[in-house]
Amino acid sequence: MSDDKMYISYNNIHKLCQQVAKQVLERDERPDVIIAITGGGMIPARIIRSFLKVPGQKNIPIQAIGLSLYEDMGLDNNVDKIGKEVIRTQWLDFGALDQHFDSLIGKKILIVDEVDDTRTTLHYAVTELEKEVEEQQKRLNRLDEKTMFSIFVLHNKDKKKRAELPAEMMESGRYLAATTVPDKWLCYPWEAQDIEEHTVLAKAQGND
Ligand code: 5GP
Repeated sequence: MSDDKMYISYNNIHKLCQQVAKQVLERDERPDVIIAITGGGMIPARIIRSFLKVPGQKNIPIQAIGLSLYEDMGLDNNVDKIGKEVIRTQWLDFGALDQHFDSLIGKKILIVDEVDDTRTTLHYAVTELEKEVEEQQKRLNRLDEKTMFSIFVLHNKDKKKRAELPAEMMESGRYLAATTVPDKWLCYPWEAQDIEEHTVLAKAQGND
């Protein structure tokens, strides 16, 4: 078995979501809305929602945003200082949000992705979402309401990052990585061609 890859089972992912949900509830930070970064954030977002369910409360809505990373090909739009171009392939449905939840202003928002590798994607997501909310606040003259962003990832790779997240988020424990792992390629079950073999490999590595 190749040791430069880590195989992650569905069971393992389920348990990681359960652990983090427990922390979120203990901190009294149950989100009003979950924003899943597609595609890797979708399954963890759906699982953690179940563990964040509180009797008598509505299911937390999940919105999806799509971001893709490209090496800078010399295009000048969206290229950040780290030379990667982040492309938005899908964004928030403000119609639905405004209709059902007023807006994102003043809400607790949990951004979910599967892995924090170079941090480029998460940095982009948080920066753009914060900007979006600020613009809404200005437009609606609701500048005194505090919107709280948190992040949940299954895996944080222990490596030098190419972008930073807001210091306040990191310091206040609103960056929640279920586990920190070495800088190896992570094989997620939703990518597996043979899920039985994948699960055996994950179990052998203790990721079950
Ligand atoms: P970033 O470098 O922006 O933190 O991560 C960008 C994206 O690359 C992640 O959302 C994820 O889709 C993908 N990625 C990074 N490392 C891995 C990995 O080890 N395994 C898989 N399957 N995807 C990864």
